[in-house]
Amino acid sequence: MRLELVTIGTELLLGLTIDTNAAYLGERLSEIGVVVTRRSTVPDDPKAIADAVGEALGRTGAVLTTGGLGPTRDDLSKHAVAGIYGTALRFDDQVWGDIVKRFQRIGREPSDANRTQAEVPEGAEVLLNRWGTAPGLWIDGAPGLTVMLPGVPKEMRGLLDREVIPRLKARTTGMVVRSLTLRTTSIPESSLADRLQPLEHLLTPLTLAYLPSTRGVDLRLTAWGVAPEEADDLLRDGATRLATELGNAVYGRDKQDLAEVAIARSRERGLTLAVAESCTGGLLGARLTGIAGASDVFFGGVICYHDAVKRELLGVPSESLAQHGAVSIEVAKAMARGVRERLGTHAGVGITGIAGPTGGTPDKPVGTVCIAWSLGMQSTAIRVTLFGNRAEIRERATQAALHGLLHQDYFSE
Ligand code: AMP
Ligand code: MG
Repeated sequence: MRLELVTIGTELLLGLTIDTNAAYLGERLSEIGVVVTRRSTVPDDPKAIADAVGEALGRTGAVLTTGGLGPTRDDLSKHAVAGIYGTALRFDDQVWGDIVKRFQRIGREPSDANRTQAEVPEGAEVLLNRWGTAPGLWIDGAPGLTVMLPGVPKEMRGLLDREVIPRLKARTTGMVVRSLTLRTTSIPESSLADRLQPLEHLLTPLTLAYLPSTRGVDLRLTAWGVAPEEADDLLRDGATRLATELGNAVYGRDKQDLAEVAIARSRERGLTLAVAESCTGGLLGARLTGIAGASDVFFGGVICYHDAVKRELLGVPSESLAQHGAVSIEVAKAMARGVRERLGTHAGVGITGIAGPTGGTPDKPVGTVCIAWSLGMQSTAIRVTLFGNRAEIRERATQAALHGLLHQDYFSE
């Protein structure tokens, strides 16, 4: 079943309210095999609403709207939609009774404006709203199916789950749209695409989407309109193919955070961690402490932004700083070792770099970052050039530090 979404509200177009309804609906509808083919947002204007709903019905024969069902004058959607079906609004006594009862419970009387909420298009099925006063509407007939839900997210979700999903499920054939996301980092999107291109045909009928961010590229596999068990099988096989090709660039699934993976893997290995951060100024520590219960693994860190702190708190040799500069493999290694020894952890991570926009040189352009990992006698370090603005470089450096941590020998041995 294909369906379009129309979210109604001038506030959405003004950017004052973020259209969370559309995102929620997209997720919930695809779970039950309803393919959302398009979504549009229109102002509280009857013509715009009628046009959007009419066009959507013309394309897919099914549309779900949110918003425009409140008691205020900007809520004109019902009139607009009734017009499409060539019907008028009628006053629904039961809906009115519910509204009156709702007000009585809090010791108030409904206003005249609330009466408009009891008006429903002729021939519409009323979806009773237990969470607010505006009922939902299910209008089925030529030129198609229109489902209207209130805009208030809580009411929209309540009605969707209780009234709409079961009715839509009865119309779908038990098929689902299901996705799985593999989270990758360290390989740029274009290189990933080059590597995966030869196997994309093996993934059919799954589709593959690349979703890049400063944390890496998420690979979303989607199975469209198949039985639930088949979707799960296809997604599992597809994910295995991708993971095999990409090796350790894949760190997790769905919403998993790399910091969470790093904490969990360290815990499994009985390793404790400390960090020494210059250009990331605590971002790595923030990521690690963002994971609840991390204190058995993550002890703490030093923000060593000034060279004096690198020297005095971490014991970075003055000669290293003078000879190689604060952004160097040598200094990153000394930072990692220094923080590990001083905090008494098994592993230490050091990050030093040039986040920009100033401070770059031909030798060490903006984005140059040195990251070191120290464990016992072993220490490794990399020098990378990261792109983006200051915030992006800091975020990418943090991600690279976490990712590199997982690929040290002590995790793979
Ligand atoms: P309405 O049903 O149009 O009276 O909407 C009531 C309230 O719900 C609005 O004032 C918004 O705060 C909120 N709202 C409406 N549409 C959306 C939407 N698409 N996403 C998130 N919130 C919304
Ligand atoms: Mg509104």
